[in-house]
Amino acid sequence: MTDPTPGLIDIGVNLSHDSFADDRHAVIEHARRAGVIQMIITGASAAGSRQALALAHAGPQQLFATAGVHPHHATELNADVLGELESLAREPQVVAVGECGLDYFRDFSPRDVQRRAFHQQLELAARVGKPVFLHEREAHDDFAAIVREHRATLVGAVAHCFTGNRQQLDHYLQLDLAIGITGWICDERRGGHLLELVREIPAAALHLETDAPYLLPRDLAPRPASRRNEPRYLPHIAAVVARARGQTLEQLAASASAASRRLFRLPAPPALSP
Ligand SMILES: [Zn+2]
Repeated sequence: MTDPTPGLIDIGVNLSHDSFADDRHAVIEHARRAGVIQMIITGASAAGSRQALALAHAGPQQLFATAGVHPHHATELNADVLGELESLAREPQVVAVGECGLDYFRDFSPRDVQRRAFHQQLELAARVGKPVFLHEREAHDDFAAIVREHRATLVGAVAHCFTGNRQQLDHYLQLDLAIGITGWICDERRGGHLLELVREIPAAALHLETDAPYLLPRDLAPRPASRRNEPRYLPHIAAVVARARGQTLEQLAASASAASRRLFRLPAPPALSP
């Protein structure tokens, strides 16, 4: 076993997902031992955001949460839910509004409902003065247009799980969006183009995430028995990104963690214990 990677931050982990119900604490501890010292737990629905905050409360300085409604659940965003999200978003351990955005790949909510929920959450982020954690799939043009409309009012924004092409990346960087890279980059069938694109992302805008339990990196060796992704695999993703950028893992870890700490205004991590 090699030394853990210094100080990585997983900006997107769905720890409130049912698949972690039985062993959440072990998952957090395995990640910490692998060098993942801070994690932002994604809130994707009202209930999920409540749960993400409750988990964050159990890990001061180590665990943080977002509060938002994923486009899949956009139909749930009525006035009551929006009010609840606002009070969650004002909690100190909630470091971003989201995940919010547009998903025209699955279309689980009608597109006009998705767009309205997206506008409302960007307005919410502006009101509470926190950055946004953005989801976009197969919806680039509408998404970019809506972000552009609100961009000047937002203190910061990250396009999480970026999987797009060069033109889309340029567009996001022009909008001053930070970019979240997941284990999608480890998938030679559909993520190979990211090995080249990841070189174009300025270090100050590059963030790392697992999106666990989704997106288990395809090239883990040996292959884990379970298909469930975990934050402990973030150093593997970081190593792939570092190699693609011609950097050492330490350089990438330092710049990505600094970028995440700045964007989400995270405090220093708890002191390391063996
Ligand atoms: Zn997402």
